[in-house]
Amino acid sequence: MARVRYVIDHERAEWVVRSLIDAWRRKLPPFDHAEPVPGRLPKTLEPGSVQHAIWLMVGLLYMRGRIDSAQAFLRLCKVFDEHPWMFDVQTFAGTLSEEVRLRMHEILKENGLGFNVRETVRFWDFNLKKVNRFWEGNPLRIFGEAKDYAELCRIFMIGKGDPDLSTGFMGLREKMVSMYLYFLINAKLVEPMMHPGPVDTHNIRVLASTEAVKAVTMEPGTRYEFYQVSPVIREVYRLYCTTVDDVLDFANALWYLSRDFCSRSQGNASTTGGYRGRATEVTAKRISWTESKTEIYHSTCGLCPVESVCGWSLPSARQYNQGFLEIRSARPKPHAHQETLLEVPRAIVSRGPKPVASRWAGIEEFKHMHQETLDK
Ligand code: SF4
Repeated sequence: MARVRYVIDHERAEWVVRSLIDAWRRKLPPFDHAEPVPGRLPKTLEPGSVQHAIWLMVGLLYMRGRIDSAQAFLRLCKVFDEHPWMFDVQTFAGTLSEEVRLRMHEILKENGLGFNVRETVRFWDFNLKKVNRFWEGNPLRIFGEAKDYAELCRIFMIGKGDPDLSTGFMGLREKMVSMYLYFLINAKLVEPMMHPGPVDTHNIRVLASTEAVKAVTMEPGTRYEFYQVSPVIREVYRLYCTTVDDVLDFANALWYLSRDFCSRSQGNASTTGGYRGRATEVTAKRISWTESKTEIYHSTCGLCPVESVCGWSLPSARQYNQGFLEIRSARPKPHAHQETLLEVPRAIVSRGPKPVASRWAGIEEFKHMHQETLDK
């Protein structure tokens, strides 16, 4: 039988989804100044054109974490305006010469897009080659062919690495297929299609900290492993977002909330040692309730529509450096006199399934929930 690691607390999940969608639509704080990414386009790009779809496809390569995606899109605007040949599928029609490849590296580095530049250019070349060769230079044709999200995933994901197949694009799994759809629907480049939002660190953090999606034990050290929890979160979208607008608004709210507000919650603040891949040290910052920190609290968590049920801190630094989100501690609040956070040893992890549901944290508040096994 499949091992159960994460489940939806249905009553809470529905409440979190509806609360965030409602606050987003009414532009209530903290969403009163929110601007979804990517809000800006290159000056020379014609909105609604095939080039627009290609530009967004390339932009996906910068949505894979460890780089500020909003900044990356701004920088990519400049690259597009100054070097349009890099977004022309004809550039990639044949084998890319070493000279052109190195020139791309150089341009990206000059524009602050040097992170992972070798892999990025390799994926860029591979994907635009495939668009040129099999899809008449127009990635929107892929969306014309697919009946639904499952079909889209098949086209983007199966056959990856084989340049002679029309399907299979590099760097695109479910999260990126959803992200591309999200961009294209927002840009009115494709007809709206039901899909789960792009499940990323931000989605996981909010749904974990509010216990809308629970691990079997909820305590410091519990991990939310990306590939195990993502299908469960896609199920939250499927169950509680009933229209495409629900999906887009919920995705926007989660993204913006976690990126700009959860990240400023003191419990999520970290210092990291020099980058050493998975061995990079991540240390919790000391909690202090000075006047200015208390003010920050009131303008972040204090404005959050789901603050009343948000109980945990899950720093994104763990995900970006070590590849998983982890509960660090109870979320600090100014009136709780919480001064320090002890970083839990990495050996303390989710301990696997417990058969008795009533042992789960918070169950007494949600007597009517119907837990389901979703993880495969
Ligand atoms: S209360 Fe704070 S940490 Fe929790 S979801 Fe809201 S903004 Fe994020």
